[in-house]
Amino acid sequence: MYPVHIAEIVALFLQVCYRKFTQIMTKYIFVTGGVTSSLGKGIIAASLAKLLQARGFKVTIQKFDPYINIDPGTLNPYEHGECYVTEDGAETDLDLGHYERFLNVATSQANNVTTGRIYKQVIEQERAGAYLGKTVQVVPHITDEIKRRMQLLGETGEYDIVITELGGTVGDIESLPFIEAVRQLRWELGSNDSLVIHLTLIPYLAAAGELKTKPTQHSVKTLLEYGIQPDILVCRTEHKLNQDIRKKLALFCNVNINAVVESIDAPTIYDVPLNMLKEQLDKTVLAKLKLSTKNEPDLESWKTFLGKLKNPTNEVNIGLVGKYVELPDAYKSITESFIHAGSANETKVKLKFIAAESLDAEHVHDKLKHLDGVLVAPGFGERGLEGKLAAIQYVREHKIPFFGICLGMQCSVIEFGRNVLKLKNANSFEMDEKTKHPVINLMEEQKNITNMGGTMRLGAYDCEIKKGTKAHAIYGKAKISERHRHRYEFNNAYLKQYEEAGMIASGINPKTGLVEIVELKDHPFFVAGQFHPELKSTVANPHPLFVSFVAASLANKKALK
Ligand code: GLN
Repeated sequence: MYPVHIAEIVALFLQVCYRKFTQIMTKYIFVTGGVTSSLGKGIIAASLAKLLQARGFKVTIQKFDPYINIDPGTLNPYEHGECYVTEDGAETDLDLGHYERFLNVATSQANNVTTGRIYKQVIEQERAGAYLGKTVQVVPHITDEIKRRMQLLGETGEYDIVITELGGTVGDIESLPFIEAVRQLRWELGSNDSLVIHLTLIPYLAAAGELKTKPTQHSVKTLLEYGIQPDILVCRTEHKLNQDIRKKLALFCNVNINAVVESIDAPTIYDVPLNMLKEQLDKTVLAKLKLSTKNEPDLESWKTFLGKLKNPTNEVNIGLVGKYVELPDAYKSITESFIHAGSANETKVKLKFIAAESLDAEHVHDKLKHLDGVLVAPGFGERGLEGKLAAIQYVREHKIPFFGICLGMQCSVIEFGRNVLKLKNANSFEMDEKTKHPVINLMEEQKNITNMGGTMRLGAYDCEIKKGTKAHAIYGKAKISERHRHRYEFNNAYLKQYEEAGMIASGINPKTGLVEIVELKDHPFFVAGQFHPELKSTVANPHPLFVSFVAASLANKKALK
C-alpha cells in the first residue's frame, strides 16, 4: 500500500514539474447556457470531459454558481436538489456528482464556487485593508476574484484542460460578473487556449411542424452584447437537426457549421458522451484549442456498462423511502448509484419513491409488499420519521433486504431500540432532545455549534470493518473510507445491548470509535451506514454496497417465486 502511495505522489510531482518546465499551457473551456435553465449543462460538460479523458487528456470540471449562498449546504433539497459532498468535505452543487460519476476523478472545494464565496473573500479582504483605500467594485475586484478562482485548478499544473460550467442562464442579472470574467479571461488567454461552448434549446413547434432557431439567435446576441462570441453551439433538441437548420444557426450565430452540435434527448444521460462523439464535439474542441493527439477515445468500458444497462436480464423493484420524494433530484446520487449497480448486476432497478409520511403500521404492508428491497434515505428533521420506522420494522420482520443511509441508518437503530430492546420512546437527539434513550446522540464537538453552514461532520473519514461480517464480505477488505454529512451519531453507551441482541457495529471509525456501519446477524441483508456511499459510486466503480443490495434484492425476489 505505502510504496504505491509514495510512487503515485512522486509521479504526480514529476508530471507537474515537467508541465511547468515545458510550460504546457492549461486550456480553458467555458460552458454557458441560454434560452432556459435545466438544459443539462452539467451533463454536456461531463460528457465532453469524458471524451477528452478517453483520449488521454487530464481534465477537470468546475462549477461557478451565481447564487449568494456560500455553498448549497444550507439549501433545502426542494430548492436545488441534492447537496453533493466531496472528499475534502465541501458541500457542493449536484453537478459535481455528475463530473465524478463520469470521470471517476475526485473533485474538491475548489471545483464549486458561488457568488457568496466570491463576495465573502472580497469583503474580508476589504475589512483587512487589502485594497489600500481604493473603492471596491464589481469590476475589477469581484471579476478579478472570479478570474483568480477560475484559474486555480489550472495553475496546479495537474490538468491539460479545465472545463468551467457557469450556472444560470445568459441574461440573468446575477450571472453578469461571471460572464464579464469569462470575457476578460478569453481576451487574456487568447483563442488558442480558451473557448466558449454555449448550450441552447431548439424548440419544436408542433403546430408548425418546425424546429425554431430564433431563441438561440437571441441568446447568442445577448452573449455578444457582453462581448463574448461563442465558438461552439450545443443545441438541445427533441428532433434531429437537419443541414438547413445547422446552416442557419451557423450563419446567424457566426460559428462554423461543424461547431453546431446536436444534443438530442437521450434515454439515459450515459448516452450523451457517445452522442457527443458522433457529433465530433471532442474533435472540434481539440482543433480549436490546437491540441493534437493520435489517440482515438477509448470508451470500451463505458460501452460495456451501457450495453449491460440497456440489456438487463433481470428486474427488481426497490422502494426508496424518504421525505423529498416529489423531487427525484433530491436523491440524485442514490438514483445514479442504482443505475451503476443495476448495470453491474445486469438487472433493471425499478425505483419506487415512497413518501415516508404516507407510511404507518396500518398501510406499510400494502405499500411495501411488492418490493424486493427497501432503502431508507438520508434526511433531516422529524417529518416522516414514524413512517421510516414502520418501514424498517416491516422489512426487518419480513426479512426483506434493507439498506439504510445516514438518517436511514439512524432510523434502523431507533427502530431496533424501540421494538427489540424495548427502550421506550428511544429516539435521536435531533428529533427529541428530552428522550430518555438518545440512542442517536449529538457529537460532543457539535454541542456548542450555532452556525449552520459547513459545520456538520463532512467529507471522507476512515472506517475499519470487522472480519466475518456482511460488510466485510461486501467490501472485501477491512479498511475503507467514505464520505459523511451529518451531526448525530450512534450512542456508544448502548452498543453492548445492541450487539447482544443481534444488531452489530460492523464498521467503526478507528480514531474516534464512532459507529459507521450496523447490520443484523439474523437477516439476509440488513446493512446501514452512517456515511453516504452514493457519493462514491461511479460508472467505472459501482459502489459495492449498492451492488450487493441489488444482488440481495434479486435473490429475495427469486426465492419468493
Ligand atoms: N439528520 C441526521 C444528522 O444530522 C442525518 C443526516 C443525513 O442523513 N445526511 O445526523
